[in-house]
Amino acid sequence: MPSETYPHPEEARSAVSKDARAGLQCGVVDRGQFIPRLDGATRTTCPYCGVGCGLVAAADGTIAGDPDHPANRGLLCSKGAALADTLSPAGRLLRPQIGDRAAGWDEALDLIAGNFARTIAEHGRDSVALYVSGQFLTEDYYVANKLMKGFIGTANIDTNSRLCMASSVAGQVRAFGEDVVPGCYEDIEEADLVVLVGSNAAWCHPVLYQRLAAAKEARGTRIVVIDPRRTATCDIADLHLGVRPGSDVAVFAALLLHLAQIGACDRDWIGGRTSGFAAAIEAARASAPSLADAARIADVPPRDLATFFNWFAATERTVTLYSQGVNQSSAGTDKVNAIINCHLATGRIGRPGMGPLSLTGQPNAMGGREVGGLANQLAAHMSFADESDIDRVRRFWQAPRMATRPGLKAVDLFDAVRDGRVKALWILGTNPAASMPRAGRVREALAACPFVAVSDCWPTDTTRFAHVTLPAAGWAEKDGTVTNSERCISRQRAFRAPPGDARPDWWMLTEVARRMGWAAAFPYRRPADIFREHAALSAFENRGTSHRIFDIGALSELSDDDYDRLPPVYWPLPSGEARPWSGEKRLFGDGEKFPTGDGRARFVPTPFRPPAEPADQQWPLLLNTGRVRDQWHTMTRTGRLPRLMAHQREPLLDMHPEDAARLGLVDGGLARVETRFGETVLPTRLSAAQRPGEIFAPMHWTDRFASAGPINRLVGAATDPISGQPELKATPARVTPIAPLWRGLVLRHSEELPEGPYYWARVPLDEGHAFDLAGWAPLPSGRGTEKWVAELLDAPPTPELVIYADPGRGAFRYASLVGGRLDACLFLARDAASLPSRDAVSALLGVPIEPERRTELLAGHSAALDAANDTGRTICACFGVGLLTLHRTIASRNLASVAEIGAALRAGTNCGSCIPELRALLHDHRIESTTAA
Ligand code: SF4
Repeated sequence: MPSETYPHPEEARSAVSKDARAGLQCGVVDRGQFIPRLDGATRTTCPYCGVGCGLVAAADGTIAGDPDHPANRGLLCSKGAALADTLSPAGRLLRPQIGDRAAGWDEALDLIAGNFARTIAEHGRDSVALYVSGQFLTEDYYVANKLMKGFIGTANIDTNSRLCMASSVAGQVRAFGEDVVPGCYEDIEEADLVVLVGSNAAWCHPVLYQRLAAAKEARGTRIVVIDPRRTATCDIADLHLGVRPGSDVAVFAALLLHLAQIGACDRDWIGGRTSGFAAAIEAARASAPSLADAARIADVPPRDLATFFNWFAATERTVTLYSQGVNQSSAGTDKVNAIINCHLATGRIGRPGMGPLSLTGQPNAMGGREVGGLANQLAAHMSFADESDIDRVRRFWQAPRMATRPGLKAVDLFDAVRDGRVKALWILGTNPAASMPRAGRVREALAACPFVAVSDCWPTDTTRFAHVTLPAAGWAEKDGTVTNSERCISRQRAFRAPPGDARPDWWMLTEVARRMGWAAAFPYRRPADIFREHAALSAFENRGTSHRIFDIGALSELSDDDYDRLPPVYWPLPSGEARPWSGEKRLFGDGEKFPTGDGRARFVPTPFRPPAEPADQQWPLLLNTGRVRDQWHTMTRTGRLPRLMAHQREPLLDMHPEDAARLGLVDGGLARVETRFGETVLPTRLSAAQRPGEIFAPMHWTDRFASAGPINRLVGAATDPISGQPELKATPARVTPIAPLWRGLVLRHSEELPEGPYYWARVPLDEGHAFDLAGWAPLPSGRGTEKWVAELLDAPPTPELVIYADPGRGAFRYASLVGGRLDACLFLARDAASLPSRDAVSALLGVPIEPERRTELLAGHSAALDAANDTGRTICACFGVGLLTLHRTIASRNLASVAEIGAALRAGTNCGSCIPELRALLHDHRIESTTAA
């Protein structure tokens, strides 16, 4: 790879304004030098993924990467780089609401407290529940956990992190005795081999991917990607193992055997630091007795698997990164342990450039785990399995009604709501009506639940089911802490006032606790009060046989000012002088004991089992789900930005061309996708990056953005027996083609389109919204046409309507004008190619149209509708460079490198998130020119 392709962290440092850097010298490990705010600029953290990038929000409203934050050193991805554009309060929830009417905070909070108290009195403490979020700050999590487990007396609090990394938590607890990530991001840069398993880091953890790409340039790091799909991450891979979904345990079991057979295990380390090696080897032998067996199970060429095994065996500095492809599985915990087993067998842990490293999906999944925000956790890395832990937390909290057993994990929780065991539910900062598997059943559960409260920033698919809706403060308006995937605690600092009556989640929870009679135990006036208590609990009686590595006692007496000035720090951070202020970046090195009782790490036997539900004759395809580059979760924030919607405008179903040909599907066609749990209609994209027999759909789109609704309505809910994490990546499905009879494009100001026998997908514009349509029923005719058109245009009662019809070509065009300006327009045609360019016509909404131009415009005789002006879907989100522009420029100027594209169009020169796609485009052009020659 040419060295100019990825921004080096040092270059990113210099890209941040000199003023901001001069004012905000960080000195990461020295709190004396750390300046969190200066001249209106504020240091904070990104609210998206688990990389946990530091930001500098400047007084002029711009947001840049923090050059001194250890996670990103100034880099940002396309989502982080667009954060400043998400700050508009338009569309936010501004007032508490009871049913459809606005209410005051007192009334709304009284209602929640009263409903919870009454339900507990009538049905017991397990009849109420909280469902919270990895978007929560640690302080939010702490109050929620304390309220439920210490005072209401139930552990029925779970978090959407259950869908993200619960298997990693369970795997780490089994292997290390505690939920501890042993390494750090720097290990990725110091490794000679990096193995990514079930991780499309290029899109899901982009800054870390850029650090890895820069390290590869600098030191030639070898990279292996193990993933059923050939993702953008494979751009820098030396080897891609396109494994069959769910086969990871067989691959790593066979690797463990291979390491043992060729003498590549570190017998001294195994003997001195671990237990259970023989049992793990026995289970591995039963799972995949040979490399050939593993290759057959994983459906990869044996030679490729042998290459991976040989590289792993020969490379001391090996890091294995894993993410949702490992975790979101009915065997997720075993997959994690199968990976960790190989690191334990080689003693590759706790030293620079080596170790297993779980990448969390959310910004504060780790902080939630520290608090104990999962239903099966107690608090501060203490456990329900240990009576003395329960007693310790009871005494610390002075809790009147301590929960003594784990609560319901997410899938079980919503089942309990559905069958009436849980009767009062408060959902905070998450959208389970879209994000949970079997989302249709979850909606039924919410609809049937006697009391549902929802706190969020924006209306979502879930707020539709709320009896009480509370307006939550967003990331720019909240103070607190988050912990990223490498145990680095960073401050999130508010730099804007919340709009309307929005309030932080910790405040709402505190107020409900007070109303339920526990004011003395919830005295918090500011996040620092909560953080100090959280830190003190982590250190409480943390010694001897009850020692927990998670100890941040050194932070338990921070003043408010110290809390405000807290630089990024790594835990553990116990009180006293035993460790430096900066905390340990690597754990378990130099004979350090594991918190397992005997001090030894545990090998875990991991018998291979395939996904819970195999494909069969009736359901011959496996549906995989995941993220796309520029979207975040259910799009409540990223879906509002035209710039981030331009990379992928609709929820495409990716399918291998062989499957498409067999089923009669074409690229850009429509497909009905069915599973045992639901069905939907999606547009298709043919992609050789898919394995035959497998399909992929993005997890982001909801009812608010497409008629297809959330793909999770189709996803099954088989769970891992240990972690409770659902299998979101392997649901048997079938696909049938739908022949669209017409295609359409609507531009209008309102965002809710009437339903009908057509597919639609919405993209927000700078003004109004654009909807792509594809219908499979004939267009209305006769008198029905007028009504249908008026509904689609959302036209006023007496619109100034301009109509152009060419029945011979099947082209019908309607424009509604208000005050001489284009208020809405509808274009209908037999095929998509006959529609005008959406990008071109979108700019006309709200623009005055001269009377003499109106018919001409609709007839398509206008340059504004000329397809030649279409730039295509956006590849570079930072500079708005489209696919067609790239194709034209690469071809006309004979561009041969990413650097040349950057020089010509600026694409790829800022955040770098589009570089894998630029390289793929160059590759395609090279193939085309070779073929043409
Ligand atoms: Fe935010 Fe991107 Fe950094 Fe993730 S990689 S924390 S989304 S800027």
